[in-house]
Parts: sequence; C-alpha cells; structure tokens
Amino acid sequence: QEEFNLDKTGTIWKELLVLARQPGVCNLGQGYPDYNGHQVAREAAVQAMLDPDKSALNQYSMPTGLKSLQDAVCAYYNKFYGLREGQAKRAIGPDNVLVTVGATEGLYNSLKALVGPGDEVILFNPGFPFYLPVIRLMGGTPVFVELDGPDFAPDLGKLEKAITPKTRVLLLNSPHNPCGHCYTKEEVEGFARLALKYNLFVLSDEVYENTTFGDVKHWRIADEEGMFERTITLCSASKLFSLTGWRVGWALSTPELLKGLNISHCMTSYCAPTPLQHGLAVALEAEDGTFEGIPKLVEGNAELLGNALREKGFGVTQPEGGHFLVADTSPLGLKGVECAKLMLTNAKVSVVPGIIFYFADPNADKNVDLDRPLLRFALCKRRDTIEEAVRRIRQMT
Ligand code: PMP
Ligand code: GLN
Repeated sequence: QEEFNLDKTGTIWKELLVLARQPGVCNLGQGYPDYNGHQVAREAAVQAMLDPDKSALNQYSMPTGLKSLQDAVCAYYNKFYGLREGQAKRAIGPDNVLVTVGATEGLYNSLKALVGPGDEVILFNPGFPFYLPVIRLMGGTPVFVELDGPDFAPDLGKLEKAITPKTRVLLLNSPHNPCGHCYTKEEVEGFARLALKYNLFVLSDEVYENTTFGDVKHWRIADEEGMFERTITLCSASKLFSLTGWRVGWALSTPELLKGLNISHCMTSYCAPTPLQHGLAVALEAEDGTFEGIPKLVEGNAELLGNALREKGFGVTQPEGGHFLVADTSPLGLKGVECAKLMLTNAKVSVVPGIIFYFADPNADKNVDLDRPLLRFALCKRRDTIEEAVRRIRQMT
C-alpha cells in the first residue's frame, strides 16, 4: 500500500508506462491512441515544414497562437456550440483563444492565474491526477467532492455544502476522466447557478468534448448565461485529433481572464509549435464534426469491452463519453492494484488501478485505504487491440 501512496502517483504512473510498453502487452493503460492521428492535420503540418514558401510557419508564432488556428478555433466553436434556444449566441473571436502547449499547460497556467495561497479549489474525486499537484503548487487548498458509483454523476447538494467564503475555483471535467460521465444540461445549469451565487471562477476541462456516445450531448458551461466571463475552458488537439505528441491545446475565455494565463505561458513555452498549429488550423477548418470516425470507434470499443468485462463478473459503468471505461473489481473480491497486477501478469493486458485517480485528503486518517476496487481501461485504441484484450480477458483465470 505504501508504495501506492498518492504522493507517489508519478512513480506508479511511470512504472505502469514501462510495464505497459513491454513487448506482447495489450496496452489499455495510458490514454493515447495506437491508431494514426488526423490525416488532414498531419499532411498540412508536413507541408508547413517542407514547403519553402511556408518557411515562416517554422518560426515563433504570436504567443497567443497562430492567427489561422485562433480563427479556425473560433469558427469551429461558433458553429458547433452556442447558448440555449431563444438566446443570442455568443460568438467568440481570436481574443478569446489562447493556444497552449496541450491542455496540460493550459491547466497549469490557468490555476497559476486563478489560485493563490489560501484559495480553495473544489474538485471532484476521482478525477484527472494532475489537478491536485498543480493546485498544491499554487498554494491553493483542494476541497474534494466525492463522486459515487455506479454512474459517478456529481451531487449538486454535496457540492454546495463544500463551498466556503474561501472557495475561488470550481474545477469541472466532462466528459469525465476516468468515469465517463457527461454532465447533463441540468447539471451544467446547477454548476452555473452555484458559480453565480457564490461568485466562483470555473475551470472547465473539456478535452474529450467531441467524444460523446449515443444521444448524449456535450454541454459547455461557458455557454450558460453569465458564465463566459467567469470560465476558462480547456481544450486539446491531443484528444480532438488523436495527436497527443503534438502538445497543442487552447484555452477559451475573456481577454481579461486569459491575460494572467498568457503571462506565464510567455515565460514558459512562449508559443506552441508553429507548423503543428498550422496543421491543426487546416484540419479544424475542414472538420465536419466526425473527426475521421474516431469518436464512433471509441464508442464501439466501449460497447465491446464493457460487455466482455460484465460477462467476466466486473461491475461496469458504461461510459457516456470520453476515452475511458471504469470497472468495479469488488464483485471479484479484488482491490484495484491487485486486479491491475493480475491483468498484467495473467492476461498481459495493461490497465490503470483506480488509486491513481483518487485524490488523497491530506487531513485524512493515514490508515484510510486508498486502493479502491476500480480499474480504468483506455478506449482510444484500434478495434483489433480491443478485440485482442477482450480475448485475453475472457481466458483469464
Ligand atoms: N485533462 C484531462 C481530463 C486529460 O485526460 C488530459 C490527458 N489527456 C489532459 C487534460 C491533458 O491533455 P493534453 O495532452 O492536451 O495536455
Ligand atoms: N490523459 C492521459 C490519461 O489519462 C494521460 C496524460 C498524461 O500521461 N500526461 O491516460
């Protein structure tokens, strides 16, 4: 248990990455695709690198981003999102877009801009592991609101109880990593009501925005009345275009809110890689919302894997969107870490134990057992990878 202490999350993660990349392992661990990234983006980026007429695209862009990418981002969001029916649609312009080095940089610099010592940040537990260390680095105090299975939907009553006069930021994530819940319209309206009532900023991590299943729709909190002014939305080309190694993302907000973010952005990375920004601008302009079929592939993967895990006796939370599926290992009488090790040794399938996603409360009893009976499976994989994993899981003893 000691070695899986959450302060050592980075170490467990690294160990898992090494094990998962061993030959013959079916890797459903870290969330990155084993299929090709967006074709249009890759071709346009290569052209930017090789075409002598495009040599300027290999130099610094403006720190806020390559203008063509900012414009393409605006056109995309203005086309696919907007306010509720009957209300004027808020068009975003280039001043509302800051291109970052992945959503990871957006997250870091947003929290740097919004949070100082003594400020409380509310976040849901479990969640994306990077949130907690960054809040702590900024001197902020994390306040956890537990998400309960099997659906892991947020409880607005619990959330309101967690708000204090020191609360400054509400950190949201939908589609959710790891649980796959997508906020409903009512939940998003509830968050907006609380943010307005208690004067909170919202940091909304929407990196999986294009991956919702069936009739589920992605609702943006920034589109709620009065919310754009107090929300920073984080988006990622890693996820939209299956290009996690490109390290490009963008933050959407008002110029006032983006200003603080941009200061540290300039001092750290200055700008995201210019030829890659160009590739993404071209791809986003051409995008019809189907993203070369990847969200559909992920949805089918969720179905296939979910059914196989249910047959094996796991408690499966069928995701509504995002790139992951979580399964409860308690019906098998196993803890998360134990089960993850078993999957790796017995079936050569690499997954991530739930402990990675559960934030440790520093005031909690040291003996509290963080090893929850949960496993996370990555779905952003080729169909044959998932089929092979399913075959191996079925044969597991
Ligand atoms: N937020 C969430 C919820 C994630 O899962 C990830 C990892 N993909 C990120 C942010 C960071 O994404 P990026 O690759 O754009 O830095
Ligand atoms: N988002 C990815 C995941 O949850 C990993 C991101 C990372 O390792 N930086 O698996």
